[in-house]
Amino acid sequence: MFKKILIANRGEIALRVIRACQEMGIKSVAVHSTADVDAMHVRLADESVCIGPAPSSASYLNKAAIISACEITGAEAVHPGYGFLSENAAFGQALEDHGITFIGPKAEHIRIMGDKITAKETAKELGIPVVPGSDGGVPDLDTALRVGLEIGYPVIIKATAGGGGRGMKVATNPEEMEIAFRTARSEAKAAFGNEEVYIEKYLQKPRHIEIQVFGDGKGNAVHLGERDCSLQRRHQKVFEEAPGPCITPALRAEIGKICADAVAKIGYIGAGTIEFLYEDGKFYFIEMNTRLQVEHPVTEFIFGVDLVREQIRVASGLPMSFTQDDLEVNGHSIEVRINAEKLPNFTPSPGKVKTFHAPGGLGVRMDSALYGGYSIPPYYDSLIGKLIVHGRDRPEALARLRRALSELVVDGIETSAPLFEALLNEPAIQAGDYNIHWLEKWLEAQF
Ligand code: ADP
Repeated sequence: MFKKILIANRGEIALRVIRACQEMGIKSVAVHSTADVDAMHVRLADESVCIGPAPSSASYLNKAAIISACEITGAEAVHPGYGFLSENAAFGQALEDHGITFIGPKAEHIRIMGDKITAKETAKELGIPVVPGSDGGVPDLDTALRVGLEIGYPVIIKATAGGGGRGMKVATNPEEMEIAFRTARSEAKAAFGNEEVYIEKYLQKPRHIEIQVFGDGKGNAVHLGERDCSLQRRHQKVFEEAPGPCITPALRAEIGKICADAVAKIGYIGAGTIEFLYEDGKFYFIEMNTRLQVEHPVTEFIFGVDLVREQIRVASGLPMSFTQDDLEVNGHSIEVRINAEKLPNFTPSPGKVKTFHAPGGLGVRMDSALYGGYSIPPYYDSLIGKLIVHGRDRPEALARLRRALSELVVDGIETSAPLFEALLNEPAIQAGDYNIHWLEKWLEAQF
């Protein structure tokens, strides 16, 4: 087992990894920008190294500085968390070249899944059902129009290098295609430095269902069921739950096995998430994330496992600590993302937190790097905490979430917490009856 791990991240996820290290008797090294000198992850880690100025490009994305920090501190492995360098194949490779273990999948798998076209091709080859669409990139408008005709409107134009819900445009008829195609390409170029786009059938009322998979890199893999992440704003998740309200045990076993078999076949190592749109009883692959997801705690709650501990174990060469037969769904879990944002427009609201009180009690988990007196810097993601609850069933989880939200205090800045208090009053949310468009429509009707 590793003696020392460096965490190439900040915020709640850095704390999450430090906590796993502490419980495993592993020393932790925090890295931070000059803007994060007073951040909680720096306080909680055993050691810390400043790796650059505030902008992420000069610090949390600075590969050379992070590798130097490993060498200075003698860290043998790096946990990338999510975001930043977590899906950067070149970073994984650079670490390996320096004899440092990347706690994540092989560079080859990150590369395949990081490009949405090769990801889709690979998924198809591995027997995973995909959304009908263009076979590969669509180079010009004529091809786009031909594809539109073939698969039928509406269609969605997506960036091959996409992520974070950006660079997607819908065309509902051939007339709309020209503008949608051109804007998708220019947005893709601006956001990802790659203008290549592809086209998919635009599903009208799907749910976003994702399957958590885990491999040991030696051809063994399991699935840990699904998470329903359909409540989205601008294609970004805000509320996630497991199990999915519309997924039966038989469906879970079926799609779960397809996913576990697929990753076993390629010798995948560590945690991964295979994302699907689910409509009329059918699953359609959209992408795979080769890292820990923000919403992983809901899975941890219902299966009683520690996914970060498991990632560290397999990266060090140990076998997984569970088999498929050990994994049984227990109860229901919901996560809400608390952002430093001012409603109703979700404008960023960084600044000084005067008081912070985290909810507690049975079945409540608050993953947050906040503390009273902390100043949230304006340079990074607005996620300031995740409130996760667990109950014996969905109604109990909902009641617990309502109770936990009433205990949460974040004074001094605005947060998105009131959004969830309002959502919990909605019959559709209480019934679990929503799809990927529900939240946008509800928000429009509210404000
Ligand atoms: P990103 O990597 O940017 O998050 P995804 O491919 O994962 O992009 O898609 C994000 C979200 O966009 C999905 O959860 C869904 O809400 C919407 N979306 C993507 N593809 C489609 C599609 N073919 N039809 C309808 N909605 C889609």
